[in-house]
Amino acid sequence: MSEREIVTHSGEETIARGRELASQIKPPLLILITGELGAGKTTLAKGIISGLGAAREEDITSPTFTLVHSFCGNVKVFHVDLYRISDAHDFHTLGLEDLFDEPAVVLIEWPDRMRLRTDWPVLRIRLEHAGEDVRKIHVAEVVSGIPSAHPAVKPGKSAG
Ligand code: ADP
Ligand code: MG
Repeated sequence: MSEREIVTHSGEETIARGRELASQIKPPLLILITGELGAGKTTLAKGIISGLGAAREEDITSPTFTLVHSFCGNVKVFHVDLYRISDAHDFHTLGLEDLFDEPAVVLIEWPDRMRLRTDWPVLRIRLEHAGEDVRKIHVAEVVSGIPSAHPAVKPGKSAG
């Protein structure tokens, strides 16, 4: 899947685009969806998960309070929302390692809340408000894996 930017003008259009994305997706795949509250992450997830045939649109709701929703259709899908996770946990401390036991599509909203490491292909999607009902959806290229949960960060010298 190549890098691209999609603009939508309603929630319905975002769902439709999610369904299109789903047609190009196969497990195993980790999808990281970023964007502020109300940007449309869950709305896009509705399109992707229903497009994968794993659930009906109306059965896909925000997993904000439950952390993970599991769907088992032709494809196994996990929809995760880490909004309420305040510290930097990892799969292990949150008990999410099991999600990666067998090929699945794992969608994570607010992935920056977690230290991630995986060998799976990774698709990053970023949503942005661009007007009342207008959203910009930036879909990156699929890359293979996230190598380290603890990247070495060198303290930088502040300029001036
Ligand atoms: P998030 O999961 O990022 O917090 P949601 O998908 O739950 O966001 O909510 C997005 C809200 O914005 C929904 O109420 C949806 O109907 C509305 N909306 C309006 N226009 C769009 C659009 N173009 N794409 C996605 N959602 C939109
Ligand atoms: Mg959401």
